[in-house]
Amino acid sequence: MGIAQGRFVIDAHVHNQRHALNWKGRGVQPDYVSLAKFRAESEPYDNSPRLLFDMERYKVDMCVVMAQSGGTDELTAETVKKYPDRFVGKCSGTAYRKKVNRGEVEWSIEGLCKELDELLSTGLFRAGIGEGMPGGNPGRDPNKVPDWGERFADICQIMEVARKHKTTVGWHTGGSSGYAGARGQLGSRAFGEGGNPLLAHDVAAAYPDVPLILTHAGVDGWWGERTYELCLEVAAAHPNVYLETGQWWPELYEKPLRDPNIGIERLLWATDWGAAHPMQWWPGSYPTTYFDQSRKEGIPAHIPDIFGHSLRWMDKLDIPQDDLNLILGGNAVRLYKIEDKVPHTRFFKQFLR
Ligand SMILES: [Zn+2]
Repeated sequence: MGIAQGRFVIDAHVHNQRHALNWKGRGVQPDYVSLAKFRAESEPYDNSPRLLFDMERYKVDMCVVMAQSGGTDELTAETVKKYPDRFVGKCSGTAYRKKVNRGEVEWSIEGLCKELDELLSTGLFRAGIGEGMPGGNPGRDPNKVPDWGERFADICQIMEVARKHKTTVGWHTGGSSGYAGARGQLGSRAFGEGGNPLLAHDVAAAYPDVPLILTHAGVDGWWGERTYELCLEVAAAHPNVYLETGQWWPELYEKPLRDPNIGIERLLWATDWGAAHPMQWWPGSYPTTYFDQSRKEGIPAHIPDIFGHSLRWMDKLDIPQDDLNLILGGNAVRLYKIEDKVPHTRFFKQFLR
């Protein structure tokens, strides 16, 4: 490295919000279950000074920023307003969810969609809805498998909002093993949409004109390739499905690049910067390195250097620079219609037709 890895680099999945949870003050031993709970109850702060430092260091020109669990769309909007040349936003209806959690309103899909519609109308969330498909009623029993027919009907309403605004929707896939979510608090891993990307087939087929982004493309940390394979299956079947690649080790690029029904145009470099995924290391084995939390080590207090590591993986791809430029930014520019953010035209591969 040393030079920029691409002509105009965009990270399509970044969290600039962070929570100061004061574990010592609470007198609680930090663990991933309490982390999820405390984050949901606390207000996030803007961590973009650290993010901007890393962007400068690794020559990342822009980031798509969005709230993580416990984060807020309001803070995303503020950050995008403050740095319009560095950030574009995604929203997920966080204020509505908080109102429901406080018991101020009763959850309905119409209420959530109204908020999404209003947020997208501000022009501050040009990258669409995400990072994943906004969830169902937060008050529902997390140990009960949601009925797919009912959930599909709700998802269709979210897709209608995206269609109206001609924007994208995320679908979360994969899962790291350290976080509390890995133990089922976010719904069934075996039957729910989080663990089964094949359910995205139905949604992609019903809305062929709405881009559906498979967040993490099956690799949200961990070394397994099962959900990655399922994501490739969905992407190969539907031209409107895109894959986030930031946590892919180099070998994982091979199959989608070879598959004529996927190809380079549907890959987005998207690291999940700010999500606190530390690196695991298997010297001499496969994969040599991968992101995941370790319960043995505990919650990282540092911000793992995911730009640095992910870009070193990208550096191993022996493909033409113009193609690399598509994964690293060109595809995101086209998908999010943010050509006005790029200083010049004709930077990305195109041919006279
Ligand atoms: Zn994320």
